Amino acid sequence: MSSSKLLIFGGTFDPPHRAHSVLPPVVAEALNCDRILYVPAALNPLKTDAPRAPAHHRLAMLRLATADIPNAEICTIELDRPGPSFTVDTLETLRTQYNSTDEFRLLIGSDQAMEFGRWKDWPRILELATPAVLLRPPLDRTQFHEQIRTTPPSAPARQWVDWIIDSPQLDISATALRDRLGSAQDLSELLDQRIVEYIRKHQLYQG
Ligand code: ATP
Repeated sequence: MSSSKLLIFGGTFDPPHRAHSVLPPVVAEALNCDRILYVPAALNPLKTDAPRAPAHHRLAMLRLATADIPNAEICTIELDRPGPSFTVDTLETLRTQYNSTDEFRLLIGSDQAMEFGRWKDWPRILELATPAVLLRPPLDRTQFHEQIRTTPPSAPARQWVDWIIDSPQLDISATALRDRLGSAQDLSELLDQRIVEYIRKHQLYQG
């Protein structure tokens, strides 16, 4: 039985943007992961606001965002279960669905890494899946190191720096994007055109 290496990428994807589709394949290649598992959250326990778009729309947009990524799959486990989406629960369930020799890596942006000490049962998460970190602008490696040393404790700061994966830095966030959707600006560098059309068709993120 051959074992595989899985890159697990959770998010609200509200909406999924170019960083969500461009960066995971770069990381998968760098880490020799065979598959990328996108896991849309029902409700992020650490975000104060609920997602703006209903889950079925976020899922449909995520399908569009990943359509051209051959080794991407979407796992709806968090949408299918009630309550907030705790990563530790997701990883525990996934662990029962894969071979014991299959390796998990958990892909997170540096903003999420900084919050990691507040994640439910984070020591268990580290046992289940080693993080892989995407540096998010404006932070560079040194600034990330400085900042993670002074955040609520999780793994040692040096360890977090070692988990950074070399990849392009894309200054895109769903929050900033949502604010610009109502304007006439060209968003094609930030958002797949198919998703722009989907958002218009379903009149998402208005008001
Ligand atoms: P929001 O602005 O609504 O918080 P977001 O842009 O951070 O949304 P999420 O769906 O919450 O998007 O992100 C899913 C994961 O992708 C998180 O781990 C986040 O840190 C990471 N991520 C999102 N955008 C980027 C980016 N531009 N560069 C690196 N990582 C990113």
